[in-house]
Amino acid sequence: MTVAPGAAQEVGGSTPPGHARRLEGAPFAREIRDRVSEEVAAYTREHGHAPGLAVVVCGRSAPSMVYLERILKACAQVGIEGSFVDVPGDTPEAQERELTAAIHRLNDDSRVNGIIVQMPLPEGVRLRTVVDAIDPLKDIDGIHPLNAGLLRLGYEGFIPATAHAALEMVHRSGVAIQGADAVVIGRSPVVGMPLAFMLTKEDASVTVCHSKTRDLADKVGAADIVVVAAGKPGLVTGDMLRAGAVVIDVGINVVEGKIVGDVDFESAETVASAITPVPGGVGPLTNALLLSHLMRAAQRQDQARLEQAGRGGASA
Ligand code: NAP
Repeated sequence: MTVAPGAAQEVGGSTPPGHARRLEGAPFAREIRDRVSEEVAAYTREHGHAPGLAVVVCGRSAPSMVYLERILKACAQVGIEGSFVDVPGDTPEAQERELTAAIHRLNDDSRVNGIIVQMPLPEGVRLRTVVDAIDPLKDIDGIHPLNAGLLRLGYEGFIPATAHAALEMVHRSGVAIQGADAVVIGRSPVVGMPLAFMLTKEDASVTVCHSKTRDLADKVGAADIVVVAAGKPGLVTGDMLRAGAVVIDVGINVVEGKIVGDVDFESAETVASAITPVPGGVGPLTNALLLSHLMRAAQRQDQARLEQAGRGGASA
């Protein structure tokens, strides 16, 4: 069901005024995992082994270890062979060398169908190291320039899972994206920018905001769809929002030991028509989508091998 901008409705019921519908990630994530489980079982029957996902961690920060555990658990739930690749090194230069070598090894390993490198990288280790090394066919989080370029041009490639999850949440809110005014706060290559491209492709008019944006409240107040990916707790409050806006909170922050988003949930839920909670909104969906990206990668690699064999046969 799709409704006009500024009037998202609960599927099968109406949203009482002043009470935003909570867009929980878990039910959608379950649907995706169920579908992925079937694809994993079919792949495993056909190949005699499970598809593989490698999670590369450089620098072992506390959040990246928590995220790693979640991904490996999600892999185990659906039958994917998850592996942890620990990148050593005492200096950024040594870490970059080891990171490049680790990614090249994984590129060459036919049992590994997808590679993700935990972000943020340690200080001094350049994102470019990953961008230059990763095989675009195994780049399930859409960081390689080929995948980023395909997205920019509106073609199909791998898109960053977090941006994909945020877009899915907009779809699930029921708001009509076509013609809507959308504000994306954050312009990072892994969340804000890909999301802005995707919303534009779906015919929203998108304003991208960042740390130098003037009059953020005015821009937010004019939007039917507000996506916040800044990493700043409390950045968006209810009084900034247009009544009935759909609010997608991508932020993950730890405040006094608790995980919170970038949106002040209490005030925002009295104004929005639909809103994602943190935790429990975009996060669970991101993990599930990553698994589905892995299966797409495995299928594309099979297809690429078949095409290569076909070309070999034709030239023989
Ligand atoms: P990032 O690379 O640090 O980018 C943050 C962006 O927010 C930048 O573009 C920055 O502007 C902008 N920004 C910072 N302060 C601002 C302010 N006061 N007003 C407006 N814009 C501001 O972060 P990221 O990797 O995109 O991640 C964003 C958030 O999403 C973080 O909280 C991260 O933990 C979270 N995250 C969540 C998931 C998930 O699954 N839910 C996955 C990944 C990341 P400038 O460009 O001007 O610096």
